Amino acid sequence: MKQAQRLKAVRYDIRGPVLRRAQELEDAGHQILKLNLGNPAPWGLATPDPIVADVVHNLAAAQGYSDARGIYSARVAVAQYYQTQGVTSVRPEDVMLGNGVSELIVMALQALLDTGDEVLVPSPDYPLWTGAVSLCGGRAVHYRCDESAGWQPDLEHLASRITPATRAMVIINPNNPTGAVYSREVLEGMLDLARRHGLLVFTDEIYDRIVYDGALHHTAAALAPDVPMISMGGLSKTYRAAGFRSGWLAISGFSGRDTDYLEGLQLLANMRLCPNVPAQHAIQTALGGYQSINALIRPGGRLYEQRNHAWERLVAIPGVDCVKPEGALYLFARLDPTVHKIHDDERMIIDLLEEQHLLLSHGTGFNIDTPDHLRVVFLAPVDVLDDAISRLGTFLADYRQ
Ligand code: PLP
Repeated sequence: MKQAQRLKAVRYDIRGPVLRRAQELEDAGHQILKLNLGNPAPWGLATPDPIVADVVHNLAAAQGYSDARGIYSARVAVAQYYQTQGVTSVRPEDVMLGNGVSELIVMALQALLDTGDEVLVPSPDYPLWTGAVSLCGGRAVHYRCDESAGWQPDLEHLASRITPATRAMVIINPNNPTGAVYSREVLEGMLDLARRHGLLVFTDEIYDRIVYDGALHHTAAALAPDVPMISMGGLSKTYRAAGFRSGWLAISGFSGRDTDYLEGLQLLANMRLCPNVPAQHAIQTALGGYQSINALIRPGGRLYEQRNHAWERLVAIPGVDCVKPEGALYLFARLDPTVHKIHDDERMIIDLLEEQHLLLSHGTGFNIDTPDHLRVVFLAPVDVLDDAISRLGTFLADYRQ
């Protein structure tokens, strides 16, 4: 049986051959140290008890379908959250819940794209964005984020990528995989381009509360209330509830008459009936309650200390450098090509896996065009990170392609 032709253009390499090889090694009895997924709970970063308790409390009442957009109380909570971030226009009717941001990314693009339509996507990106654009028949046109400028988007390059076929711009802030938190100036520059070219903005802000060293996350919709925008967030990272599959989108900047796209989005929401109902009950408590994430991201907190420790160990490896992330859960390290001559970074990650039983992710899996980066997830405790980075150092010391 043949797969759909449409899928031939879809890439999602970070869960591709590398993961299959890891599975084979595990099946053969090897223990693999996996620092490849932004999945907090398995590392003892558990979902806060009150959030779990809310789901349990509501389980019996969550047996039926909900409104296709999601339960009202959760949508109120999301609307209020955006209001506190300065996006004053968002009402519960402007909120749609989903089975994670992942589902909403696909829905939001499906509702927009016709064959050949172009979407501006950052490079590097969280690769679901590129994959989902392709899945919907569109073309992901990558704009450069500048490593020498702390991975901030390069506005000139972004502007040069706009064509008459461009429909939308994707912003991932704080960014996966780079950990960059965009400055207000850069964000305003991006939003101004969207405004001038009539582009819909998709802003993926799932890491908005995971920032370090006093970095300030600016909510894009608050900076450009007039620009049509779909803002996304969810429970997977800040609330360590990735398995609940619970996320949201908020609609802003559409004029009252500009309803066509939104009707398409509603159609798709209706067709999947509704998101998982028990997990929707977690949202109100998560957003409105005690923000336990704050204790993890400040000095002394686990995420803060793990980030520092892993970064220090990583950049101490000869020929490795890394912009210190200001947000999210990842280190996106560069292998100096004059020291490490890598032609195929996916091969390198498989070789690392086979030799050291350590699973990381290769840079080109995040849609950069040079094979000289890798991503380390720093959710593990420091002793585990130590062990992992020692293995990486040993591997790189005599690795040649
Ligand atoms: N967006 C970004 C930038 C991510 O890094 C991830 C997961 O790693 C997602 C979306 C997917 O999130 P969810 O678990 O809500 O589907």
